[in-house]
Amino acid sequence: MIPFLDMKSVYTELKPELDAAYARVMESGWFVLGKEVEAFESEYAAFCGTKHCVGLGNGLEALEFALRAWDIGAGDEVIVPSNTYIATWLAVTAVGARVVPVEPTPGGPNIDPDRIAAALTPRTRAIMPVHLYGQPADMDAIMALAAKHGLKVVEDVAQAQGARVRGRRTGSLGNAGAHSFFPSKNIGAFGDGGAVTTDDPKLVERLRVLRNYGSRVKYVNLEKGLNSRLDELQAAFLRVRLAKLDEWNDRRRTVAARYDDRLADIRSLALPNVPQWADPVWHLYVVRTNRRADVIKALETAGIGSLIHYPIPPHLQEAYAELGQGKGTYPLAEKLAETVLSLPMGPHMPLESVDEVCAVIRQTLAA
Ligand SMILES: *Cc1c(COP(=O)(O)O)cnc(C)c1O
Repeated sequence: MIPFLDMKSVYTELKPELDAAYARVMESGWFVLGKEVEAFESEYAAFCGTKHCVGLGNGLEALEFALRAWDIGAGDEVIVPSNTYIATWLAVTAVGARVVPVEPTPGGPNIDPDRIAAALTPRTRAIMPVHLYGQPADMDAIMALAAKHGLKVVEDVAQAQGARVRGRRTGSLGNAGAHSFFPSKNIGAFGDGGAVTTDDPKLVERLRVLRNYGSRVKYVNLEKGLNSRLDELQAAFLRVRLAKLDEWNDRRRTVAARYDDRLADIRSLALPNVPQWADPVWHLYVVRTNRRADVIKALETAGIGSLIHYPIPPHLQEAYAELGQGKGTYPLAEKLAETVLSLPMGPHMPLESVDEVCAVIRQTLAA
């Protein structure tokens, strides 16, 4: 049996440090907005190469709060990828703004900068690139466009903590980076968590107020805020995970390199294509094949997990039926949804397991 993602080994490997973190918080008697969150915020900002980090309740709210903090809302448009997890879109519609989807580069997975210009209107306020699967989006081209048109850029870093573009970390490349610490992400909490990283002190100030009922000083409310805070326990756990993030991302690179090596010559299989300026962190290892159903079935029979990220693009979801964007509206995203397959991946995956997965795929696609 080879699991899609081995979550149990996270605790097994880090048990002494995680147990100590748990005890420290429990004994402190302080659980929301305290020393652990402050320490994590400064450590995570340093890791990302930004001046600031604000801990929030989850990744979706990190995306949403960045837009709110810039007063983006009704009447505004935000450029989003047609090929993404639906949370990217949900953040935009949550603030009352309109999603303007843009197709990925040929083969994907990320938004194609060359197609963004044609989607801009006088109402466009922001671009929300996603570093899907841990593969960085083309931020140089996106930032150049944003500068030219006076737009904000919020990176969706939910799947790409630690990735780099020309040596600089994702989350430090746009005006803001929105991070998720959902348990299965490259740096995961043991529950929900999120954060925004940025160099902009005004954005930080606004986010700290928004996450805390619109209040900076207890019982003094400056605006109609919300409640979305990274809690002390999760922050303490995340500090343990952060210390290992680069090392664990390196282990993912080793797994990805093994897949690349063992699958390279299979003609009916397209492997991830990494641009020379990108240093991905392999949140997922995603192949494409027109014979996906056969591969899934063979893997399943062999006791090997696999998943589809994602089977239905956001524009074809019931949730966005109101947009009236039927099948055929975003053919590249639709084609990806029909052909992508995520193979088992993670920092605890033995290379022998990678070889087993590859052997099953080879046998299936040779038949
Ligand atoms: C996980 C994820 C989110 C949402 O993060 P949560 O912490 O689960 O709210 C947003 N965007 C992408 C691309 C994600 O993978």
